[in-house]
Amino acid sequence: MINFEEMGLTPGILKAIQELGFETPMPVQEKVIPLMLGDSGDIIALAQTGTGKTAAFGLPLVQATDTENNNTQALILCPTRELCMQITGDLTDYAKYTGKLKIQAVYGGASIDTQIRGLKKGVHIIVATPGRLIDLIGRGAARLSSVTTVILDEADEMLNMGFLDSINEILEEVPQGRRTLLFSATMSSEISTIARKYMESPNEITIGTKNSSAENVSHGYYLVHAKDKYKVLKRIADFEPDVYGIVFCRTRKETQEVASKLMDDGYNADALHGDLSQAQRDAVMQKFRIRNLQLLVATDVAARGLDVDDLTHVINYSLPDDTEVYTHRSGRTGRAGKTGTSLSLVHLREKHALQQIEKIVKKKFKILQIPTGSEICGKQLFHWVKKLENVVTGHQEIEKFLPEIKEKLGALDREELLKRVVSLEFDRFLDDYRHGEDIISPVNERDREGGFERSERRGPREQYSGNYTRLFINLGKTDGFYPEQLIELVNSNTRGKKVPLGKIDLLKTFSFFEVESSFADYLIGALNNATFMDRRVAVEVAQEKTDRPAGDYPTNRPAKWSDRRPEKKRDEWKPEKKWKDKAPGKKRESSGNSTAGKRDRKPR
Ligand code: AMP
Repeated sequence: MINFEEMGLTPGILKAIQELGFETPMPVQEKVIPLMLGDSGDIIALAQTGTGKTAAFGLPLVQATDTENNNTQALILCPTRELCMQITGDLTDYAKYTGKLKIQAVYGGASIDTQIRGLKKGVHIIVATPGRLIDLIGRGAARLSSVTTVILDEADEMLNMGFLDSINEILEEVPQGRRTLLFSATMSSEISTIARKYMESPNEITIGTKNSSAENVSHGYYLVHAKDKYKVLKRIADFEPDVYGIVFCRTRKETQEVASKLMDDGYNADALHGDLSQAQRDAVMQKFRIRNLQLLVATDVAARGLDVDDLTHVINYSLPDDTEVYTHRSGRTGRAGKTGTSLSLVHLREKHALQQIEKIVKKKFKILQIPTGSEICGKQLFHWVKKLENVVTGHQEIEKFLPEIKEKLGALDREELLKRVVSLEFDRFLDDYRHGEDIISPVNERDREGGFERSERRGPREQYSGNYTRLFINLGKTDGFYPEQLIELVNSNTRGKKVPLGKIDLLKTFSFFEVESSFADYLIGALNNATFMDRRVAVEVAQEKTDRPAGDYPTNRPAKWSDRRPEKKRDEWKPEKKWKDKAPGKKRESSGNSTAGKRDRKPR
């Protein structure tokens, strides 16, 4: 094995990486660094994130840059703002002892004027996202005529994000005879096309197995009915009290829906997607990094910039459209020598897509049983018992209250006391599962009684049947739409008629309500012409008698779902933490960041 000293890196760079704690080169560095320092040929490197590829191209690039020459000599293109900042930071670290290297990061979502001012001072290396760079080229601020090295980092991801045309446009600006390096986690036909078009007999390097995900990731899936997806997600989270993972959704809407429901249900979760402002995204990512959140619900694109090494789980709430995206997702767990689990919620119709993914990953996925209420409660209870075992006692403050506490509770024997403590902690939680039916997987419609009595209550289907029709309305709590507003809306649009309403289910951005069936068509007609707070109301018969699955909206929705929320509100949006206490007579309060009163879901 070759070491850094033998590779021909200068003392300044060696000193910098020693300070960073790099002792031995990682495989991609062993291969790329000597090639980059040795000749000027093009390179394609198939390497996933976390393999050390930034240093692989960054160290030789920093070394080869002439800091006496004020022209831009190298261009690094990458898919996201976060990666852009990360690469810029890493290069700055490598260049700590190698003269005044000027690197400018340019990316969307930040002030273009500041970036223009930076570029005008003259920079040696530009690290850019494609869209913003085109803008800056157009304004004459970014000049690429002296660029001799182009690096396309996470090229597959840039293509997934639709940057192909931008990349073509940018590469046309860079003089012929340059060296081009392309880093990608997967090799697709589009990547080959770019390579053929812009690279000359490139050296091809593969780190690990081509197109396969990490060895230490296990893959499993739950077969679920679409209507049960959210409930199954909750069960996964409840069954894994220490879960620290990303829940991948397909669309921004679905992401927000799932995250909002999780937050409403008391989980340490939040959403990360492109409808949030950059500041909101940064805040969410930071909360996740420091483990203030256990579950980050994200779109593939928004999660790209997030570099977290110790995820326990990746959960595919929806399978990706592009099967190769699965490898990106699952590769986010099982890093740094740890094991990880990638779980997917799969609908029967998606079995084929799953088989395609299995082929790419080259592993057979394990079908998993949806945990029963009894299994979940058992797991949670023993998790709590373990915590109790490890509690450190002996605080002076407690000592002084002990005599009085003993006096008050002295009459209770050990067993009674234990029961009460457990009930206090778990009543609400047990309630959730005692009264909820177990979820039956489509291929496994066997009854999983699991120790808890089946609910004596009428299930939701029974409640909604009878003479009522369940309607969907495109207004929810974020619109200030509550039962009073619904009744007022109905009354003001059905003058003279008394329309009998049934159960009302208010959700964040839309709601369901029941109406006596003989009034359904009339009410739909009356409300569809109505407005609420300057917005057109859309009402239709709900597709199912249970809640509509996230992301499944009627076709008469506004062009952009997020448009339904006024711009101002959207910018001001911040996650609400709510505690829905179902136990009668009890009221818990959520207070800012405090986790008091919440289920304890923080990983330890
Ligand atoms: P990357 O794939 O470039 O995102 O790098 C993944 C992580 O590995 C980063 O945190 C780097 O700082 C770290 N890293 C890169 N090269 C080395 C090395 N030779 N030794 C130890 N850590 C490294």
